[in-house]
Amino acid sequence: MDIKVTLTQHKKEKPDYSNLPFGVYYTDHMFEWDYTEGIGWHDPRIVPFHNLEMSPCSMVLHYGQTTFEGLKAYLGKDGEIRLFRPELNMERLNTSNQRLVIPQFNVEDGVEAIKKLVEVDKDWIPTGEGTSLYIRPFIIATDVHIGVHPSKTYKFMIVLSPVGSYYKEGINPVRIYVEDEYCRAVKGGMGFTKTAGNYAASLIAQEIAEERGYTQVLWLDGVEKKYIEEVGTMNIMFVINNEVITPELNGSILPGITRRSAIELLKANGYKVTERKIAIQEVFDAYDNGTLNEIFGTGTAAVISPVGELLWEGRTIKVNNGEIGPVSHLVYDTITGIQSGKIEDKYGWVTKVD
Ligand SMILES: *Cc1c(COP(=O)(O)O)cnc(C)c1O
Repeated sequence: MDIKVTLTQHKKEKPDYSNLPFGVYYTDHMFEWDYTEGIGWHDPRIVPFHNLEMSPCSMVLHYGQTTFEGLKAYLGKDGEIRLFRPELNMERLNTSNQRLVIPQFNVEDGVEAIKKLVEVDKDWIPTGEGTSLYIRPFIIATDVHIGVHPSKTYKFMIVLSPVGSYYKEGINPVRIYVEDEYCRAVKGGMGFTKTAGNYAASLIAQEIAEERGYTQVLWLDGVEKKYIEEVGTMNIMFVINNEVITPELNGSILPGITRRSAIELLKANGYKVTERKIAIQEVFDAYDNGTLNEIFGTGTAAVISPVGELLWEGRTIKVNNGEIGPVSHLVYDTITGIQSGKIEDKYGWVTKVD
């Protein structure tokens, strides 16, 4: 792919890197790629970061035909810039596209675009422990038409945002609220995709959880409100009797890359890992009979987020005394170690930029 690069004449001032909130600052450049029916994806380019000009009747604004991804670039102490399994993000974006009737793109081209953009804006990658450059690829339907049908034109963009460490004062277990009224997705819907509508559907429950002093929502299945699905932007794992159990990919949960990596590395370390349906009652029963060892979420933002407390139907349980457990620790240390280059990448997960 021939990416045309136009560099900015007005470099922005860098923000305070010692205190970076998530998703607020954007780098000097962005990637753009257009799709036109009959031509395909064309004119890949890196240009100065700019606002979009679009018709109020652009299709994405009305019916949400859009998909996105999220990954990070890490700058190691050795000066190398690493991406963590970016080809899986690009494959997943195509899977989301397929569901949203957005045209497929070439996965290698997508990875190349990410690498090239990160390279152009590499002076924006923060260097502090746990910091990174967040990468947000996304695609929008751009036909100007208020009618419900798939668009014939699209725009694929990538923006970058320097982000601080998720854990500023050590790994903090989170308090999770089990949502039993609303649901996020059902089988046959869009739960397995990263598309705007899934997150719009989740906001109301997130707000209720926060009002009650909880950080995130744990979603149950939309049909029986019985089986565990996932947390807002994380997959979830349970350690019961030293076995790691995580909900199987059933079409309504997001197939996380951190989830997949955690499963692979836990198996390689001799753990028994099972992907199956798990009822919320089973977790509370395990707590009652003393076999619930750990609960943790997995996702790009935090890598691992230990769950310290779970509230379901008025009952609260405290997990592992509100502390991070050994399984969570192993997964966290291994994945962050590989991302920063401190640990040898024996699984071949890293793509270097340059
Ligand atoms: C992105 C996301 C995840 C985590 O996926 P990773 O690839 O591990 O970052 C889990 N659940 C939802 C709903 C997500 O959007």
